[in-house]
Amino acid sequence: MNFTKIYKSMRAFLHENQIKINEPMENHTSFRIGGPVDIMVLPTNPNEVCSVIKVCKQNNIPFFVMGNGTNLLVKDEGIRGVVMKLAQNYNDAEVDENIIKCKAGMSLSTAAKIALGNSLSGLEFANGIPGTIGGAAVMNAGAYGGEMADVVKKVTVVDLNANLIEMQKNELDYDYRRCILQNGDRILLEVEMELLSGDYEDIKRK
Ligand SMILES: Cc1cc2nc3c(=O)[nH]c(=O)nc-3n(C[C@H](O)[C@H](O)[C@H](O)COP(=O)(O)OP(=O)(O)OC[C@H]3O[C@@H](n4cnc5c(N)ncnc54)[C@H](O)[C@@H]3O)c2cc1C
Repeated sequence: MNFTKIYKSMRAFLHENQIKINEPMENHTSFRIGGPVDIMVLPTNPNEVCSVIKVCKQNNIPFFVMGNGTNLLVKDEGIRGVVMKLAQNYNDAEVDENIIKCKAGMSLSTAAKIALGNSLSGLEFANGIPGTIGGAAVMNAGAYGGEMADVVKKVTVVDLNANLIEMQKNELDYDYRRCILQNGDRILLEVEMELLSGDYEDIKRK
C-alpha cells in the first residue's frame, strides 16, 4: 500500500488528527490486544465516511468499521488496510417525542441516559452494556430480557458504493445477537429508536 498517496488523498477531506498511521489496535479494544492497523480514520459526518469509502475503493484497499472495540479480537499481526472508527468522533443524538435518533458512535449507556432524561422507557437493558449504539444495533446487543431489536425503528447505512440508504427494522433480519448488517457490506451511520413514554422514577429503578 502506498501510504503517502492514501494519506494525501485522505487529507483532502480529513484533518491530520483524524488519520492515524500504524495505530496499535490494542489501544482500541476492550481486551487491550491487537497489533497495528495500517491506517485508522476517525470521520465525523456522512460525507467524510463516504469519501473514505471512495478512497479505499479507488485504491483497492480493504477496510473495516469498528465502534468501541468491546466485541473485537485483533491478531498480534494487526490489520492491513484501513479501520474506520465510529465512536466519540461520531456522536450526537436528537429526541423528538418518543423517538431518539443517535449517531452510530454514541455510547449505549449515554443513549440509555438520554432516554431516562426524557422519561422514555425501552432502553433500560442497555445501561450496563459497553460499546456504541452502532455496534449494539449491528450485534443486536441485549441484556435482562431486552435487546436492540425491541427498540430499533430504522437505521441509516452507507453501502460500499458510498450510497446512503434507509433500512426499516423488518429489513434487518434481527435474530439472537445477529442482524443482516454483520455481512460487512454496509456501515451503520444512524439508529432511530422508538421508545415508550414512562415514569422517570420507574425507568430509573429498572
Ligand atoms: C465487559 C463486557 C460486557 C459485555 N456485555 C454485553 C451484554 O450484556 N450484552 C451484549 O449483547 N453484549 C455485551 N458485550 C459485547 C459488546 O459490548 C456488544 O456487542 C457491543 O454492542 C459492541 O459494540 P462496539 O461499539 O464495542 O462494537 P465493536 O466491538 O467495535 O464491533 C463489533 C462488531 O460490530 C461491527 N460494527 C461496529 N460498529 C459498526 C457500524 N457503525 N457499522 C457497521 N458495523 C459496525 C464491527 O465491524 C464488528 O463486527 C460485552 C462486552 C464486554 C467487553
